[in-house]
Amino acid sequence: MKEILNISLENEMDLVLAHRRSMQVGEQIGLTVATRTTFATAVSEVARTAIEYTDNGKLHLIISGNFPRYSLYARIDFKADQVFRASDEGFFYAKKLLPDFTFNSSGNAYEIEMGLSLPRSLKLDESRISMLKDFFKEVDPLNAYEKIKKQNSHLSRLTGEQEEEIRMRRELDEKKSEFISVASHELKTPLTVIKAYTQMLRALKDQYSEKVAQVLEKLDLQTTKLSLLTHQLMDVSKMENGSLQYDLVEVDLNDFIQETVMILSNVYPGNTITIQLGTKCRVMADPMRLEQVLTNLLGNAVKYSARNSPIQIETDLSKDQDHIVVKVIDNGLGMSEEGIAHIFDKFYRLKAVAASHPGLGMGLYISSKIISDHGGEIWVESVLNEGSTFFFTLPVQNHL
Ligand code: ADP
Repeated sequence: MKEILNISLENEMDLVLAHRRSMQVGEQIGLTVATRTTFATAVSEVARTAIEYTDNGKLHLIISGNFPRYSLYARIDFKADQVFRASDEGFFYAKKLLPDFTFNSSGNAYEIEMGLSLPRSLKLDESRISMLKDFFKEVDPLNAYEKIKKQNSHLSRLTGEQEEEIRMRRELDEKKSEFISVASHELKTPLTVIKAYTQMLRALKDQYSEKVAQVLEKLDLQTTKLSLLTHQLMDVSKMENGSLQYDLVEVDLNDFIQETVMILSNVYPGNTITIQLGTKCRVMADPMRLEQVLTNLLGNAVKYSARNSPIQIETDLSKDQDHIVVKVIDNGLGMSEEGIAHIFDKFYRLKAVAASHPGLGMGLYISSKIISDHGGEIWVESVLNEGSTFFFTLPVQNHL
């Protein structure tokens, strides 16, 4: 059974289409004018009855059978609350025209099939039927109404496809988030144990050689890195399910930056970090999360710069004095404009550094969420091979 074409039956205009297309199919197959007129009239009778009471009908023009015996069928299906019978006027006439007529109903669903056997002299075969199908796929619209109808159905198909794609993406994203959440929690426990044992062993430094001490120090450092990544994964997962929470307190920003940079200078002894602080002020912030942002920006400044390359941190009030602007300036690798566009996206890493520098592309994504949750903004200005300046702002709580 091959459907040659179908027409949705929504209003009177579709009646014209149903009649003319039925005639055309008959013509293409090679039926006589009388036979195709009979067929098209029967189709119109049933279609009219469907259209009178519903706008959800559909006409299918079908060729069924096998070589060399084929039949041309029209099937019209629709749903209606009105009760129909085979003896209703439209159906009655159609049945007179095409005696091969079946009427089926199930609940409020109706299906009417009518057809005629095609003489062998028409020399129909599978390839001609396929060509017929292609012909009606490509054929010009009969009128402006059919043109719009085709465009609408194309658009609604596209919309359907897009909606399906969005649904699938969302499902994948949810699965990914769930995996990240489970994986990060599963990693956290053994890591905490490894870290605790490593520190216990390091405390016993009198009992082993200098070489063992060096190995333990490296083990400790790597475990710290791994635990940082695990915490980042947990943060991403919290951000996805909206459970990232903040303990906001008033923070003297200049003091806070000074203290944090002092600690970080020990972590990054290879780079000189200088501070240039502007007007003192307090901000409402979660100190742990703010430290996370500074650590990320400073860590990146070190990671994406040459050893010994200087790094500068500056603070200044915005022009309207409502915000404090923090800048982290490096003279490192810098970034291209295309790269900059995505660096705050989840898991995004620039291709240029992906192979040479370790990382998972979570730091800036987390930092931007933390800053926006604090009512601030984060952005970057960068020149490839010259360096980058990361900026973030925080609303001023009070001036000091
Ligand atoms: P990660 O450093 O783990 O890759 P981030 O989210 O912190 O993740 O950074 C995302 C990407 O932004 C990095 O992979 C890098 O390509 C780029 N990037 C971040 N900071 C800098 C910087 N200071 N200089 C040059 N590129 C940077």
